[in-house]
Amino acid sequence: MVTHDLFHTEMKVIENARKTLEQGRIAVGSSAEEYERLLEKYTKLFKQARRLIKFSDRMQNDLNRLNRRLYYSEVKYRNIFENAIEGIFRSDPSGQLIEVNPAMARILGYASPQEMVHRQNDRCTLQWQEGYQALLATVRQCGEHRRYQTELIRKNGDTIWVEFQAQPFYAESGIMSHIDGLLSDITEKKRLYEELTRLAHRDELTGIFNRRRFTEILHQEIRRARQGNGTLALIMIDVDFFKSVNDRFGHDTGDKVLQRITAACQNVLRGKDVFGRLGGEEFAVILPEVNQAEAEQIAERLRQSVESEAIRACRETIHITISIGMCHLGEGFTGLSALLKAADKALYRAKQKGRNQVCIY
Ligand code: GH3
Ligand code: MG
Ligand code: MG
Repeated sequence: MVTHDLFHTEMKVIENARKTLEQGRIAVGSSAEEYERLLEKYTKLFKQARRLIKFSDRMQNDLNRLNRRLYYSEVKYRNIFENAIEGIFRSDPSGQLIEVNPAMARILGYASPQEMVHRQNDRCTLQWQEGYQALLATVRQCGEHRRYQTELIRKNGDTIWVEFQAQPFYAESGIMSHIDGLLSDITEKKRLYEELTRLAHRDELTGIFNRRRFTEILHQEIRRARQGNGTLALIMIDVDFFKSVNDRFGHDTGDKVLQRITAACQNVLRGKDVFGRLGGEEFAVILPEVNQAEAEQIAERLRQSVESEAIRACRETIHITISIGMCHLGEGFTGLSALLKAADKALYRAKQKGRNQVCIY
């Protein structure tokens, strides 16, 4: 507005000067020409100046508009940074934290972002943790890293599971300038996942593997034994006259008996043996890396362990026995179903021969 008034006044001065010239009020001829030339020159200069000033005004306006947009986008980014539930961080290429948001500090147990950034040389913080260093190594190598899961230690020493996403940024020279990353606490998600997996793999009553998981493991073990020139034995167990336990003492006591049978077998089995409940009162065991004699010994100890259990229920002592059928991989059968069938046949024979005994296929 001020410049507009100034232009207006200046134009008036020029017009007046032109009128003075036209009216011939400048008496001496040579001075009039001089005056006219000066006036032309000045008018031209003035118009150029006016154009420049208008151009500069427009630039100033554009700049203001850009600054406003930048300010709002900065405010927007700040809001996200400050209020996000996810942790957000920026580090230098060596992994030294430059900035973290409140969520990041909270996830790792610090009172404030400042505390976290300033304490990073304490050897107990992110900077020194293997998971974080492994993430940085892959970011430096591969350019970015999506969904990297690792365990981290919080300020108070607790362990949490986190998921990182990180991306490096480069200066024009091509040198990495910094790394921006996101971090979320997935401890609860991980716990739920593990719990679901456990439920999907385990038998609810006894806690040992269910039929589906047992069969999966048997499949893997057969493949492993074949590849490594190893061997394995498969044991099938069926509780003798179990129906009568249910009939005499009720289903709940029957359940308790199944749990005691499970525990009695677990006492005998080695760490590498795989124990599963195939259903009802039928169990099975995979004995990896055993020869025939060792397998027979383990099967016999299973039988004895259950036989020696005295289970108290309804003011009575229940004695239980089991029948066992067993077979070895490689004795004519190579596949999973052939192996299961053979062990089942041996078990059937143990039942036929009077129960409470081990039969080998
Ligand atoms: P044997 O095997 O010696 O020939 O006799 P058995 O009486 O054990 O024979 P059978 O296989 O016919 O009976 C198995 C019984 O197991 C039948 C069923 O009521 C009982 N049973 C199956 N699952 C469960 C369970 O989860 N809990 C309880 N308490 N009983 C179960
Ligand atoms: Mg049965
Ligand atoms: Mg039975």
